[in-house]
Amino acid sequence: NSTARWKASDTRHHLHPFTDYKALAEEGGSRIITHAEGVHLTDSEGHRILDAMAGLWCVNVGYGRRELAQAAFDQMQELPYYNTFFKTATPPSIELAERLTALAPEGLNHVFFGSSGSEANDTIVRMVRHYWALEGKPEKQVFISREHAYHGSTMASASLGGQAAMHGQGGLPLPGFEHVMPPYWFDYGDTLSPEAFGEAAARAVEDKILAIGPEKVAAFIGEPIQGAGGVIIPPESYWPEVARICRQYDVLLIVDEVITGFGRTGHWFASEHYGLKPDIMPLAKGITSGYLPLSAVMVGDRVADTLVREGGEFFHGFTYSGHPVCCAVALANLDIIKREGLIEKVQNETGPYLAERLRDLSDHSIVGEVRSLGLVGAVELCADKANRTHFDPVGKAGVICRDHCIGSGVVLRAVRDAMVISPPLIFEKAHIDEAVETLRRSLDLTAQDMGMI
Ligand code: PMP
Repeated sequence: NSTARWKASDTRHHLHPFTDYKALAEEGGSRIITHAEGVHLTDSEGHRILDAMAGLWCVNVGYGRRELAQAAFDQMQELPYYNTFFKTATPPSIELAERLTALAPEGLNHVFFGSSGSEANDTIVRMVRHYWALEGKPEKQVFISREHAYHGSTMASASLGGQAAMHGQGGLPLPGFEHVMPPYWFDYGDTLSPEAFGEAAARAVEDKILAIGPEKVAAFIGEPIQGAGGVIIPPESYWPEVARICRQYDVLLIVDEVITGFGRTGHWFASEHYGLKPDIMPLAKGITSGYLPLSAVMVGDRVADTLVREGGEFFHGFTYSGHPVCCAVALANLDIIKREGLIEKVQNETGPYLAERLRDLSDHSIVGEVRSLGLVGAVELCADKANRTHFDPVGKAGVICRDHCIGSGVVLRAVRDAMVISPPLIFEKAHIDEAVETLRRSLDLTAQDMGMI
């Protein structure tokens, strides 16, 4: 009963910097999206597809928002571009900086704008290293991050990341970037309860700091929920302990909210859910709901004051930093989130409903774990539920299941063998039903394909 034409793919990694666009155009089908409205995509053959991944964790307010197009149009006519490089600004960048500092966790009073999450994290590496040098501790240069983390694709941000498929290529990771175990109970939890494992995973951060020497560790960076790593939701015991450890050893805490920011977890920022007060917080994606490229590094007084102390200058900026059209769209996007109560909707209505519907899948023969917070969740596929044993090779079942989902008209993503869902925040309960029911049918087909039935 397929609604979409989607050629099953192999299990190779899906990032193709040199996509063969001509071949893709000839293949057609659901790999080519021509139009979208609300939560639905239309492919090159006119099939309607439910987008349960919000494009790429981006399109929080959904597609086809005339208001955002109008904001861009108006700003382009008013002032299409001016730089923020030489202590200059534009009204939309000023207003957005104000709005973001009011929304962000306490103390994040300074904003540096860029165009992508990668740029934001690259900026942070330079900023933090320079900060410690100005503080008279130039040896404090090492960053600690986690395996499976994703922080971007530039040299520094990919070094922060813990993607096995990236490391070893092109000199990654650069020296000075260390990785520890993620709080991934399903894979690393062994015999520990989730809460005990959360504490053990936090201790791994402390052990790493001590192994390197606290005097050399500049910062710890983590996504509140590791998104592109497979929606790894830490046990509640993890973050408070990591934050305490960072304070104890004077290690800056960077919380990457590129995916979790702007309502995904039922809060403006997931830092609120975990009670975190980061020193630095990168934002992107949902800041404009993906309509235009924009990122922001939110910086606390401690780091910002040092960087500009005694007239000091941090020589850093991009041509498109604070682009007025992008900032105008971001402002209109924030207006929509607030006016339509999207955060409350996720927290009180659709988030709990997604959790409930995903829980229904836990009895499936190839489902090892389900997890979610707000409108981000994962269903972990496995060969043996009782022993949490993966399929061999890891990733094959996920790709098969994803292909079944898309072939049935619902976009979900597979990360290794975790089926990931992260829909627009305007998703209704009926959309969640459709996504979960399609996933259940796809799980049945995957179990067959993997020779389990
Ligand atoms: N940080 C996180 C947590 C991300 O998920 C991503 C992108 N998926 C990035 C940073 C990089 O953002 P961009 O692709 O805009 O460079």
